[in-house]
Amino acid sequence: MATPAADVLKPDHAASRRHFIFTEEHDRLREAIHAFVTKELAPHADAWEETTFPDAVFPRMGELGLLGLSYPEEYGGQGGDYFCNLVLAEEMVHSKSGGLAMGVAVHTDMATPPIHLFGTEAQKQRYLVPAIAGEKISCLGITEPDAGSDVAAIRTQAVRDGDDWVINGAKTYITNGHRADFIVLVTKTDPDAGYDGFTLFLLDMDAPGVIREKRLEKLGMHSSDTALLAFQDVRVPGDAMLGQEGKGFYHIMWELQGERLIGAAGCVAGAQKCFDRTLQYATERSAFGRPIGKFQAIRHKFADMATKIEAGRQMVYSTAWRFQNGEYPVREISMAKLYTARMACEVTDECLQIHGGAGYMKEYGIERAWRDMRLNRIGAGTDEVMLDVIGRSYGL
Ligand SMILES: Cc1cc2nc3c(=O)[nH]c(=O)nc-3n(C[C@H](O)[C@H](O)[C@H](O)COP(=O)(O)OP(=O)(O)OC[C@H]3O[C@@H](n4cnc5c(N)ncnc54)[C@H](O)[C@@H]3O)c2cc1C
Repeated sequence: MATPAADVLKPDHAASRRHFIFTEEHDRLREAIHAFVTKELAPHADAWEETTFPDAVFPRMGELGLLGLSYPEEYGGQGGDYFCNLVLAEEMVHSKSGGLAMGVAVHTDMATPPIHLFGTEAQKQRYLVPAIAGEKISCLGITEPDAGSDVAAIRTQAVRDGDDWVINGAKTYITNGHRADFIVLVTKTDPDAGYDGFTLFLLDMDAPGVIREKRLEKLGMHSSDTALLAFQDVRVPGDAMLGQEGKGFYHIMWELQGERLIGAAGCVAGAQKCFDRTLQYATERSAFGRPIGKFQAIRHKFADMATKIEAGRQMVYSTAWRFQNGEYPVREISMAKLYTARMACEVTDECLQIHGGAGYMKEYGIERAWRDMRLNRIGAGTDEVMLDVIGRSYGL
């Protein structure tokens, strides 16, 4: 007997089931962050492109508990899991300001995690607690004028002098470098020890010899500040060392995994936001007597973008699930970082194209997304470096 038409399964495009890594609690967190970001941050996005975002964002986010979502309550954190950080990264894209999202992510997911994992109790009290409260702003110094991808080639040196260390060198492209109260600094402490010759230090940015040399101008992310820093005979006590002497390279490679995964989550969310806005535009804008979204050429662009965004999202969520559950999935994190950065650049480029001339105009916000997104193929490890990490993981 033939199946009655009513019993035939129909696709349910409107269905939305929460991904299994998230709970109702994450949903509530998402709603709260979304409300804050759209009410208190997004309205200032245009102004902050000109001025950079104000430092006051940090204490406000600290007050709301957003700077320590996954840190223990004893340090002022919320005691949540890593997925809470993903939620924050995803919702920050609604601030309409890539630079702001980056400045906050540097603080929450790049500079403070090494203090939490490797820091002494005194360091946690002095730096982590006020950072979570938003009372101290942090930055992370890896890149140098002569060493970016090749982290092992850094020249900033820390030399032991009695109980102290004396630091000389330079760091560049440092996000939050102008506003930061302290820096997590990567130095070389033993030039002959190869990968075992690096050490991290925690430095107050107002210490004698720390010079904020230059505010760097850039293609996008205008609401963030980016600094060239110099360190001239900066003397720090022995207890400024973060983690183990000689293990700084491994410490920072660990930090980079979290940084890359959070960046990947931001790429997916940013691409999705751009997609949604463009989908709306494609239903409103008409040409040759019909909405442009009804042209097959445009419809297929949306289909392609949606498929890639979904693939990226699944990569990020499944990798985050492994990371949260104690694995160290460097290969998959590198894949997620590589794929989502490329994907987000392709998506913003297609969205700009679908907007036509409007996409090139500032008022639609697409050109800014296009400029901001480009950084993801460079920052936190370039595409080429990700390819190399992935390739080497197969023993090649
Ligand atoms: C806006 C912005 C903010 C940043 N914020 C920070 C920050 O807060 N802290 C920080 O420490 N750094 C920061 N960075 C630095 C960023 O991480 C580096 O720019 C990035 O790692 C690349 O290093 P590089 O610029 O020196 O490029 P290089 O290493 O000089 O690379 C140049 C080109 O050579 C390619 N290349 C290099 N090595 C290889 C290889 N082995 N195989 C194939 N190709 C290769 C690269 O992929 C790239 O295409 C920021 C950068 C920008 C632009």
